[in-house]
Amino acid sequence: MSRHIEIVEVGPRDGLQSEPGVMPTSAKVEFIERLIDAGLRRLEVTSFVNPKKVPQMADAEQVLAGLNKRPDVRYVGLVLNQKGFERAVAAGCNEVGMAVVASDTFNRRNQGVGTDESIAAWLDIAKQAHAAGVRPQVTVSAAFGCPFEGEVSVDRVIEVACRVAEGNPHEIAFADTIGVGVPSQVSEILGRATAALPGMRLRAHFHNTRNTGLANAYAAVVAGVSALDSSAGGIGGCPFAPSATGNIPTEDLVYMLERSGYSTGIDLDKLIATGEWLQGVLGRSIPSMLLKAGTFPKPAARAA
Ligand code: MG
Repeated sequence: MSRHIEIVEVGPRDGLQSEPGVMPTSAKVEFIERLIDAGLRRLEVTSFVNPKKVPQMADAEQVLAGLNKRPDVRYVGLVLNQKGFERAVAAGCNEVGMAVVASDTFNRRNQGVGTDESIAAWLDIAKQAHAAGVRPQVTVSAAFGCPFEGEVSVDRVIEVACRVAEGNPHEIAFADTIGVGVPSQVSEILGRATAALPGMRLRAHFHNTRNTGLANAYAAVVAGVSALDSSAGGIGGCPFAPSATGNIPTEDLVYMLERSGYSTGIDLDKLIATGEWLQGVLGRSIPSMLLKAGTFPKPAARAA
């Protein structure tokens, strides 16, 4: 049996959050339902953050309310603090993802408090989540580099991972938040994490800012991750910042993994159709290369 790699679809959150126009709630709901129909079973559907800072996510509760909830799907809400956690649980998320930034400066810019305070908040949230029957997981952000502090040492990343592990998360993710990472870093960080935290499930989150996203994803699979984040169409990044780009595209990731002998449980044709639909909704072309080149072999040849 081929090894299964779980794909966590983050398009509805990380992908959409920097879109200049606010997508109507009904379109967000359709986007998520299409992804589930294509086989995705774990999706970061929104974030419960300050709507003044991230207007695109102001309808978090309405998105959750609009979904036709299935028992076999994990509806993940991103939270950064206690208030966000309470909103996510009240809205019906059955999994919460918390982010703790490895660099203190970025943590203060992103969440208004230092890394130590975010770790303390996470440990508190994890305890409450376990008690409430909501699955908690945590991401160590900017693990591959920080836009303010520059290089982030692997020692620091592993130290933060070991501290958040005390909350007994479902898994720990390592995020290349700004897309600076390379495969050798992926191997080193995940290798060190595996050694420091035996038995802990690991996930990775990459942005394709410097075109290293898929190479990093493959390195993460080789290093033993059980899950990878990606966004449909590769959406994300800020249209006003020419160098900012999105997450690795889910279509391209599924293609690479399935052709390499891993299973994802995702119907690539339905996923591509969703990407085409998304291009129509956004009114522009989006980064996925599969959307441009098509899959291989062609569906007709596969059927023959
Ligand atoms: Mg991200």
